[in-house]
Amino acid sequence: MSDPCIITVAITGSVPRKRDNPALPVTIAEQIESTHEAFEAGASLVHVHVRDENENSSSDPEKFARLQEGVAQHCPGMIMQFSTGGRGRQMEQRGAMLYLKPDMASLATGSVNFPTIVYENPPDFVRGLAKTMLDFGIKPEIEVFDLAMLYNTADLVREGLIVDPPHVQFVFGVKHALPARREILEFEVAQLKKLLPRATWTAAGIGRHQLEVNRWSLEMGGHCRTGLEDNVRWDKQTLAPGNAALVRRVAQLCGEYGRPVATAAQARAMLGLRPMS
Ligand code: ZN
Repeated sequence: MSDPCIITVAITGSVPRKRDNPALPVTIAEQIESTHEAFEAGASLVHVHVRDENENSSSDPEKFARLQEGVAQHCPGMIMQFSTGGRGRQMEQRGAMLYLKPDMASLATGSVNFPTIVYENPPDFVRGLAKTMLDFGIKPEIEVFDLAMLYNTADLVREGLIVDPPHVQFVFGVKHALPARREILEFEVAQLKKLLPRATWTAAGIGRHQLEVNRWSLEMGGHCRTGLEDNVRWDKQTLAPGNAALVRRVAQLCGEYGRPVATAAQARAMLGLRPMS
């Protein structure tokens, strides 16, 4: 039997807007509802951002707390992952809500160009965020937007700032970062196995690359990420009806590749997180 696949749903992000897709959840109530539907469709991990009243990215701990509480209540055992991503937030704000101790938080281990900005993650800042996560018992999800970030991760594990085995996400299709090419993923996975043999991994494709990257991951034994943060479209002609529909499509794909969809309890065990209470 193949390993179960953990489906991550990235429900909103900081870039897509309601005008891009009306199904995008923006308020906390919408986010809880959308997460619940995605959970019922097979997602066991939710990656979250919160927005202010203008739909911009926010670090408001009060909003993160409400979202965390709502998801815990409606989606028993689902893994909560806070984004510490940059867009629209000052650097010192990016970890301001980590005292809420989500199961996981994203951690990019280097800087990279995004479509219109530099996604700035200087070495000391990365170390500081890693240390905060370590102190709060939060498992980082390492975001690998560019190759050096993988080797930086291995260094941070060696330094004891990231607990071994880490969980790594390879991201493809962000303009100015790595393009969606299967050979790159194959190389990254091979390097990961050499450097950090016990690590788990997911891959995410942005925009029209979402589904194709899901297929590569399923074939190569990785986990999958989907959701409106990365892609608001269903296909060239139509918008995605919502996060749950995107999750359902990946769950179906898991069947095609003989991979069971991980339950929340299985996902927790695979990632070494505390069991469901
Ligand atoms: Zn995100």
